[in-house]
Amino acid sequence: MMIIMRTNATPEQIEEVVKIVQANGLRAHLSTGDERTVIGAIGDGRPVQKDQFFHLPGVDRVVPITRPYKLASREFKEANTVFTLDGVTVGGNSIVIIAGPCSVESRSQLLETAHAVREAGAHALRGGAFKPRTSPYSFQGLGEVALEILAEARQETGLPIVTEVMAIEQIPLLLRYADVLQIGARNMQNYSLLHAAGESQHPVLLKRGMSATVEELLMAAEYILSHGNRRVILCERGIRTFETTTRNTTDINAIPVLKSLTHLPVLLDPSHSTGYWEFVTAIARAGIAAGADGLLVEVHPDPAAAYSDGGQSLKPERFAELVRQVRQIAQAVGRSAAPTVEADKIQAG
Ligand code: PEP
Ligand code: MN
Repeated sequence: MMIIMRTNATPEQIEEVVKIVQANGLRAHLSTGDERTVIGAIGDGRPVQKDQFFHLPGVDRVVPITRPYKLASREFKEANTVFTLDGVTVGGNSIVIIAGPCSVESRSQLLETAHAVREAGAHALRGGAFKPRTSPYSFQGLGEVALEILAEARQETGLPIVTEVMAIEQIPLLLRYADVLQIGARNMQNYSLLHAAGESQHPVLLKRGMSATVEELLMAAEYILSHGNRRVILCERGIRTFETTTRNTTDINAIPVLKSLTHLPVLLDPSHSTGYWEFVTAIARAGIAAGADGLLVEVHPDPAAAYSDGGQSLKPERFAELVRQVRQIAQAVGRSAAPTVEADKIQAG
């Protein structure tokens, strides 16, 4: 349930309500809006006496959260969740572009890509160190070596790093290198990993499972939020359908649907959504037009030689064109592109 405080409720009154919530064995999650504070009182399904909260000083009303995903819902928090990653704002009016190779393959491949995507206008760098591959005989990622290369790229370009976590035991290592932990489609319902990512209090990019409903994605996000970790970014990456001409089918509906159901930032990954570089730019445009808060795009300096996902990776010059086009679409729908590291540097002289 939500305990909605009066606009003039004092911090002491809020604290008192939180205490009583906790004394009932519930967790209190505060959402501090411009006007009033809402206290989400979340339990484990066991019945709670709701009337004890009605008459507490400072309480305006007590209402149930009807959605099964409580903290992720717009019912609980109306305003968009906005946070910064090393100076880059996610979830605000400006769209954010995260780009880089599917996998980190070598120092030269990653550094070349990092510089190219930064110059093209990307705001963060992606690159897999631990790769979830369908075949155990496919390239599994360079592990810690890749993380060291990513750290070097971050140092050289200033771009925050997004990289995938596949298992709980990788978290301590990844926390030393990653600005954002990516949880991939195959792990969207790995509940112990979601719990651990929540506990880490580190920003998380959560990708939709390939057969997951929008509601299941939001329930997965709820696991992370339930630990008080509010920095969760959702990502539509295409779902499995009967269609075989593309790797997946972009569920473009999911973008406005998610934006209406949740306050969390929503990105689109046009690379895994389509599986072919030829279609990536068109679907990136569609995603931004549909209201996505940004994009996750695979870029490789030599896609034909890529160890993973070369067929869907853009060459740097094509990525630069994608950024140009997407910026125009953003403007057409009343958004802008977030300032880039390059722009900041120029401004700073
Ligand atoms: C990736 O981003 O390279 C990846 C493996 O994506 P997904 O989990 O969406 O398949
Ligand atoms: Mn990939």
